[in-house]
Amino acid sequence: MNFETQAIRHQAERTQFDEHSVPLYLTSSFIFQDAEDMRASFAEEKPKNLYSRFSNPNVSEFVDKVVTMEGAESGYAFATGMAAIYSTFAALLSAGDHIVSCQSVFGSTHTLFTKYFPKWNIETTYFKAEEAEKVESLIQPNTKILYLETPTNPAIEILDLEFLGKIAKKYNLIFVVDNCFATPYLQQPIKFGADIVVHSATKLMDGQGRVLGGVAVGREDLIREIYLFSRNTGPAMSPFNAWVLSKSLETLAIRIEKHCENAMKVAEFLESHPNVELVKYPFLPSHPNYEIAKKQMKLGGNVVAFEIKGGTDGGRNFLNAIQMCSLSANLGDTRTIVTHPASTTHSKLSDDERNQVGITAGLVRCSVGLEHADDIIADLKQALETVI
Ligand SMILES: *Cc1c(COP(=O)(O)O)cnc(C)c1O
Repeated sequence: MNFETQAIRHQAERTQFDEHSVPLYLTSSFIFQDAEDMRASFAEEKPKNLYSRFSNPNVSEFVDKVVTMEGAESGYAFATGMAAIYSTFAALLSAGDHIVSCQSVFGSTHTLFTKYFPKWNIETTYFKAEEAEKVESLIQPNTKILYLETPTNPAIEILDLEFLGKIAKKYNLIFVVDNCFATPYLQQPIKFGADIVVHSATKLMDGQGRVLGGVAVGREDLIREIYLFSRNTGPAMSPFNAWVLSKSLETLAIRIEKHCENAMKVAEFLESHPNVELVKYPFLPSHPNYEIAKKQMKLGGNVVAFEIKGGTDGGRNFLNAIQMCSLSANLGDTRTIVTHPASTTHSKLSDDERNQVGITAGLVRCSVGLEHADDIIADLKQALETVI
């Protein structure tokens, strides 16, 4: 079946009520027929739900959909994207191991690398997107994981999955990719050698700003380790969130198509505006990694980064003038969201530190939503008049 059909038609088994849409299995545990059934279930001799921290029909339906969409072997779903990312590292690493990661990663992932993992003697070496060809020189005998996001947040850099996948294979590293910005509709990192793909389902997978969720899919043996870690430590996704997210995936393809169509129009508009110095969108020919983006992504995604004139003050003026779009920390919603990292998420960093991660004073990130493109552009246009 094709991507769209599978997302809609894959469904947990029907109950005796022959419901069309899948019901919500809001139950913490499941029953056994007799002592033998219970023994065999606990011994994992047959697939059966025991307890919703381990598995649940709604959660399994959601995971199975993502597994198919990503071309993976197996998966496990989490309460949040960060739970998926943390549990993946915690399950697969030991004290003394080393991570090589792209420098521009999601803020909380960065905090894991710099604040928490060093407590367990796990160190991380970063590489900049434009220095990806030097990654080999950063690999140490104790390097276990190569980690990256593409497109990166908020600088919208593109990393070459095929090239980095080959390096991971050559050095026998576990290649982990956060595919949150692209979604499996646009990009399937496993095709390029990823062993594990992690997601914040909170973003485009739900796409409607309702629930938190996370998921890790990939190689059976590695997911087994992640599953065992998680069933004992308890970061499981709730059945309710899985039920919502499974429905969300039914419309993923059509939503992403429209998000990308709108984002392309917004990117082209911004590129033509005199108060915008630079636009970064993977499918604009001016993007430095346009060729790589075209190779590994079906469309350019929904996030456009741009630099406005007027630096930090320009950024503030711009946010203050916005009328329709939302000022919010989320992204990947039906509603267009604009953020100015230098005065918000990254305000505690010095100018130097910000420049290191590609965040200039005038950088604005726009998560383009599903409103009519003309209305999004009209709002951005009138706000841009105020920046200088
Ligand atoms: C939001 C986000 C996360 C974290 O997901 P939560 O669901 O908020 O925990 C991880 N990676 C990326 C790229 C994100 O955008």
